[in-house]
Amino acid sequence: MKTLEVRLPGKEYMIEIGSDTLSQVGRTVRFAARGNKAAIITDRSVDALYGDRVRQSLKDEGFDLFTVAVEPGEGSKSMEVYSEVCERLLEGGLTRKDIVVALGGGVVGDLAGFVAATVLRGVDFVQIPTTLLSQVDSSVGGKVAVNLKAGKNLAGAFHQPKAVVIDTNCLNTLPDRVFSDGMAEVIKYGAIEDADLFRRLSSLGGRSGIMSEIEDVIYTCVDIKRRIVEADEKDEGGRMVLNFGHTLGHAYEKSGGYSRYTHGEAVAAGMVKIAEIGEETGITEKGCSDKLRSLIRMYGLPESIEIGLDEYAQAVGVDKKAEGSMINLIFIEDIGKAVIRKMDTASLMELLGRVEG
Ligand code: NAD
Ligand code: MG
Repeated sequence: MKTLEVRLPGKEYMIEIGSDTLSQVGRTVRFAARGNKAAIITDRSVDALYGDRVRQSLKDEGFDLFTVAVEPGEGSKSMEVYSEVCERLLEGGLTRKDIVVALGGGVVGDLAGFVAATVLRGVDFVQIPTTLLSQVDSSVGGKVAVNLKAGKNLAGAFHQPKAVVIDTNCLNTLPDRVFSDGMAEVIKYGAIEDADLFRRLSSLGGRSGIMSEIEDVIYTCVDIKRRIVEADEKDEGGRMVLNFGHTLGHAYEKSGGYSRYTHGEAVAAGMVKIAEIGEETGITEKGCSDKLRSLIRMYGLPESIEIGLDEYAQAVGVDKKAEGSMINLIFIEDIGKAVIRKMDTASLMELLGRVEG
C-alpha cells in the first residue's frame, strides 16, 4: 500500500492506495471519525459489489452504521436526490460529530460530499472512490456538487474529505468504457505534468498492461493532483491546468447532449484538438498531437469528434471559464508542460476553422 498526504492547513488528510484496502477501511474511518455512527452513501450497483465488504470492516471497528443507496448514474447528482439523502441521514440519527462514507464513483463522491458539506451545517466524510476517474480525480481536492437545470455542478462547495481510501481491486469490475473514461484523465496528467508517466502509459499498451502497475500509476496521478490542489485549493489560478482538453471537450459533450460521449471521450478528443491548435500557433511543439492521438487510441478513446464550428462557438461562448470575450485556454508546450494562455474567442474560432479545414 502507498500513502500520500494532502497538506492543506487545518484540513490535512491521507490518501491510501492499494489492493484490497476495502477490507481494512474500518480502521481508517475509525481514525478519522469523532463519533460512533457512520452513514454509507453509495449507489445500488456499487452497493451490490462492495457494500458488504465495507460494512463488515466498519462493523469490526464497532461502528453503528446504516446505508443510503441511490440510483446509479448522473441523474442522482440532483437537488431532489440531495434532499432525499439528507432526510435519510437525519432519520438514521446522524449527528454533527458522525461521519459520512462515500462509496462509489464520482457521482456518489460529489453527491455525498455535498451532503456532508451541508447537512447539519457540515459533517466529516471519507471518500472510497471505486471508478478509475474518481480514484485519480474527483475524490481528491474537495470539490463537491450537484447539478442544477442551469448546468452541471452549479450547487456545490469546497469540502475536503478526512481520508481517501483507494482500492485498485475495484477497477476489475469496471466495464471497458468506464475504465477508458478514467484513462482520459490519466493521460491528461501525463500530458500536463509528467512526460515520464506519458511514456510509461505508451509502453504499458492498454488496459491489461496498465493493471500490472496500476497502484503506481494512480499514485503518480493523485500526487500531481495533490500538488496542484495544495497550491490552489479554491481554483483561483494554477488549478486551471487540470482543464487541459476540457474547454473543447465541453463542446463535444454538449453536442452529444451529455449522453452520447462520456466525459473522458470528450476530453480525449479535446486534448488532441487543442494540441493541434497549439501546433498551428507555435505554442505547442510539433508532434504532440500525434503522440496524444496514439495514446488515446491505445486506451480505447476517440482521437476526434466531429462537430460544426457553430457548435464550438456556442459551447466556447457559454464556457464557465470565459472572462468577457477572452478565455483562459490550457495548452501544452510539450508533453508534460502545460501553460495557461488567454485568447479571445474570435481568434480561437479562426484557429478552429483553420485546423478543421
Ligand atoms: P459514476 O459515479 O456514475 O460511475 C460510473 C458507473 O460505474 C456507475 O454506473 C457506477 O454504478 C458504476 N461503478 C462504480 N464503481 C464501479 C465498480 N468498481 N465496478 C463496476 N461498476 C462501478 O461516474 P464517474 O465517472 O466515476 O464520475 C463522474 C462524475 O464525477 C461526474 O458527475 C463528474 O462531474 C464528477 N467529477 C467530479 C470531479 C471533482 O473534482 N469533484 C472531478 C471529475 C469528475
Ligand atoms: Mg474532467
